[in-house]
Amino acid sequence: MKRCTKCIMPDTVPGITFDDEGICSFCRNFEKEEYLGKEKLDLIVEEARSKNNKYDCIVPLSGGRDSAYVLYLARSIYNLKVLAVNYNNEFQNPQALKNMQTACQILNADFVTVCSKNNIAREIVRNGLKFSTLRRKYSICTACTYGMESVVYRAALEHNVPMIFWGDSQQEQTTPMEKLARKNLKLGKGTIRKHFNPDYYRYEAAFLKQRLEFKVPGNNWLARHPKLKDKNIKEVHVFYYIPWDRELIKKTIMEETGWEKPEGSVSTWRTDCYLTPVLNYFFYKIFNCGKETFGYCKMINSGHMDRNEALKQEEKFQKHMVDADTIRKMLEDDIGLSRKEADRVL
Ligand SMILES: [Zn+2]
Repeated sequence: MKRCTKCIMPDTVPGITFDDEGICSFCRNFEKEEYLGKEKLDLIVEEARSKNNKYDCIVPLSGGRDSAYVLYLARSIYNLKVLAVNYNNEFQNPQALKNMQTACQILNADFVTVCSKNNIAREIVRNGLKFSTLRRKYSICTACTYGMESVVYRAALEHNVPMIFWGDSQQEQTTPMEKLARKNLKLGKGTIRKHFNPDYYRYEAAFLKQRLEFKVPGNNWLARHPKLKDKNIKEVHVFYYIPWDRELIKKTIMEETGWEKPEGSVSTWRTDCYLTPVLNYFFYKIFNCGKETFGYCKMINSGHMDRNEALKQEEKFQKHMVDADTIRKMLEDDIGLSRKEADRVL
């Protein structure tokens, strides 16, 4: 297997091409991210603070690394009155919950965690896996995406909080790269025949139930992505203003928030969810590399990681990759598929 000489993308990724120097098309098309600047962030923060509400800011927490850093920023740097909100997607790692509770205690922030009363996320994941072809298997995160946004918006509206501090980063935005690779896949489209498949309707019914349980005021129940309809609430994606610095984030949260890496995880990235190994398994089947590999490409190109470290991480990652039997067991025990269904999914 050949790898890009700049990042570590393998030549097995669908549609990837290499130039004379062995540099891959993803590196060649990389556009360095621009930041809006700390001054702009400071202004937004001051405006929210001046409203003098019970809370200045909501920080959505996942139990992972980046959101813990954003909480630190909101409390220790900006000294904001913070309500931390977590959506428990029913696959949450206990260490993730512990990390969030500890951080909120140390930094003195109020904390709420919300979970479906009907295990709806599990139902969505289970039925989604059953009806979708391999091409769509990596979309097992839909339930969590909706759940997280909706509980945060609901909390902001309920408590009249003027600002939301999101911790997503441009490094994690690998979707456009995945889309490019997916175009070149020789797999089924993922939509063919779904209308003849009862599991598709079970999936849609479960997703609808989730939207009814976590209804966001002002949103139509048909809307698949919740929207915040209140113009007085400002959504701030912190790492679009200030640089996302991996080493600084890791160091800060470990020293200042009591954050600990869950046992057995290779990287500090996406360690909050039990579904990560399942996601990675399908990712490898589809793209011949992990979701992390796309991220490494971005991090190397933006100067946040060197190639050797990425290679080392990749090596560790592959060594710890779980095999089909373990995934089958997870599909049965954690997601609730029968043996036969799990075999079909795999
Ligand atoms: Zn490359």
